[in-house]
Amino acid sequence: MKTIQSEAIHNAWNMLNEQEAISFLQELVRINSVNPPGGEKFVAEAIESRMQAAGLVVELDEIAEGRTNLFVSLPANQNKRMENQPERILAFSGHLDTVPIGSVQWKHEPFGAELAENKLYGRGTSDMKGGVAAMLMALDCLHRSGVQLKGSLRFVGTVGEEVDCLGAKHVVAKGQIDDATAMIISEPSANELYCAHKGALWLTIDVFGKTAHGSMPEQGVNAIRVMNAFINKIEKLSLVYEPHPLLGGPSINIGTIEGGIKTNVVPDACTMTLDIRTVPGQVHQDILAQLHTILDALCKAAGASYQIEIANDLPSITTPEDDAFTILAVETAQKHLDSQLTPKGVRYYTDGSIYAPHLEIPVLIYGPGEPLMAHQPDEWIEVEKYLESIRYFIALAVEYLGA
Ligand SMILES: [Zn+2]
Repeated sequence: MKTIQSEAIHNAWNMLNEQEAISFLQELVRINSVNPPGGEKFVAEAIESRMQAAGLVVELDEIAEGRTNLFVSLPANQNKRMENQPERILAFSGHLDTVPIGSVQWKHEPFGAELAENKLYGRGTSDMKGGVAAMLMALDCLHRSGVQLKGSLRFVGTVGEEVDCLGAKHVVAKGQIDDATAMIISEPSANELYCAHKGALWLTIDVFGKTAHGSMPEQGVNAIRVMNAFINKIEKLSLVYEPHPLLGGPSINIGTIEGGIKTNVVPDACTMTLDIRTVPGQVHQDILAQLHTILDALCKAAGASYQIEIANDLPSITTPEDDAFTILAVETAQKHLDSQLTPKGVRYYTDGSIYAPHLEIPVLIYGPGEPLMAHQPDEWIEVEKYLESIRYFIALAVEYLGA
């Protein structure tokens, strides 16, 4: 027996013009939105003209010069809304910026959006213009099919996720999606389902010593030596955590180090950046306190001083595997796409770190991009996965919101 739901889903699937969907993704990849500086405005405007032409409601919010957040809505059918029940609002989330192309030579033009052997190449194909375009195509197909949803569907495209989540911070500060009741983020997952991701604590640590002539090192305080001692300590640092069933434990990466100006000068400054990835239950303030204790002791002993600057502080997020929305997301894939999703955890962070603590709603990640292709040269996305994710987003929206 065909349910109203599956009929609505199939009607919307029938609206999918695969060639058009691929061209739309190519159009977005060809717009350079490398961050820094971002320039997401041009991506937002291209989406605006495409979605407005299709008859969808689009709003742009330019939060800084050339940096524009984007909202595309498919409102609930007022006659179908259920009496005495709060309206369900499903937020589709994605970011409009990409990371730089890097210093390695690409075989495929980074902004060429070349198609070769069922893959589409270019910066942002996987992370995450593929996910963004898929969600928008899903909205477009649902709209064109004339489906009357009982709840509202809203796409939120943000600026700056790759650097500081600037766009999502604005969305939260302005309460622009405070009414959302569930969220799915289309960061690259190769069409797998993630229900948890790690947090990030990025630190810039400066150690200050005292300069002296290189022939008289005992007259100075060598900042590089103090930093070296600190590195040795943090290699053995034991962070307090409960292993997470999906995320495991935390990690620390020493990203950059800089110090000294000349061979024959005792360096009076050394700077290091740290990337710490955390799991649920860890308190970033506690980690900072641990690092302060170590640096306090080292600097006191050496006659040096230091400062720690927080460059990024994003909590981990987790939506239970037995949450109703997680269960629905799994069942939808099984029922309509015949695919078996097992909720997993992922190490990267998303705009979800900003949204989840504020909205307190279930947040999941599912996107067509390849997680291992993110930030890589010759980044690509599988065209088949891209098209399948459009079908999945359509099905999930209908199942969650009701038709
Ligand atoms: Zn991303």
